Amino acid sequence: MPGYKVLVSNQVGCESTELEGNRVTQYLTLNGHTLTESIHEADYIIVNTCAFLRAHRDRIISRLDTFSRESQARIIVMGCAREIAPRILESYQIALACGHSDLDKLDSIFFQFVPFKQTPPYHWSKNFKRVVISVGRGCVFTCSYCSIKKSIGFIKSRPMPEIIADLQASLASSQRRFLLAADDLGSYGKDCGTNLSELLREIEQIEGDFTVLLSNIHLTWFLKYFDAIMRFLASAHSSKWLFLPMQSGSQCVLTSMRRYYPVQEISQRLTELVRHLPNLRFYFDMIVGYPTESEDDFNQTLSFISKHPPSCLMIAPFSAEEGTLAAKLPSLDEVTIRSRVDWLNIVRRTAIRRENRVPIAHWGEE
Ligand code: SF4
Repeated sequence: MPGYKVLVSNQVGCESTELEGNRVTQYLTLNGHTLTESIHEADYIIVNTCAFLRAHRDRIISRLDTFSRESQARIIVMGCAREIAPRILESYQIALACGHSDLDKLDSIFFQFVPFKQTPPYHWSKNFKRVVISVGRGCVFTCSYCSIKKSIGFIKSRPMPEIIADLQASLASSQRRFLLAADDLGSYGKDCGTNLSELLREIEQIEGDFTVLLSNIHLTWFLKYFDAIMRFLASAHSSKWLFLPMQSGSQCVLTSMRRYYPVQEISQRLTELVRHLPNLRFYFDMIVGYPTESEDDFNQTLSFISKHPPSCLMIAPFSAEEGTLAAKLPSLDEVTIRSRVDWLNIVRRTAIRRENRVPIAHWGEE
């Protein structure tokens, strides 16, 4: 049976989006289909979407416009768009729209020897120069500003033996650097009677010369599993990075975001970590200009960053995402949000210089 020519159009998104795009590419190749870069040659175009922010959604529209106008190919959409931005898709002729949990619907279109579910959920990431292994998708939280929850749903963990088998298979093929990917790594196991602490312990027991980078851990779990996380970070298998989506240094703002972790305790724990592991690098996410963020709240974020300088900082100006609780709150004005972003950048650079550290372009760099 002849294969199809397929163009896979990936959008920049989270590690899991990249992983799913690569998994689809691998699935097509394994099954004798041909990848192409040409929209004129392609029988199918698969648009891998991250629809988290308005800018992302604009890019999806622009791609779908181009593909619909200039190509005869049938269009498949995968990723977050179906749940987060279904109205976008209504304007186009879409042959199939898959979310994160039903990518195996591709089997209804592509002839296959290897069904989608049997393609390995790990891949080599050019960005990270690591093998990315998924531990599952979803999370247990309901943050007020988050639109992706609609798409990813409640945590769906992969069985631990499968994750460990993926890691060992990659080790056997001489891979030495890994990234455990999840929407919230700390939620791992909440649906199947295990947890992050047990997963880390399993990994620590694997023999060999390799390092593992952990993706983001919600701060609730950071506190709950602090001892296990510290033990892992101190082990030879840790890449000596900690990625925490802190989002704000203000307790009031965090409560309004429905993120209920005590800032003071986090701060104490971070200080403790640095005392034990002076080479540890932090990567924080911060949202600036959340609707309830007062000048005083913002100053608390500045103090937090000044006290715990991260080697990488992702600053996200608040964006009101349709259907979220936060979108119903009156927004701060753009000028205030912009100037807070600039201030946070200045404070971060100053704090890094004070620590005699060099800023790092990409988190996970060693
Ligand atoms: S932890 Fe919060 S922000 Fe992160 S995916 Fe879950 S609901 Fe969204």
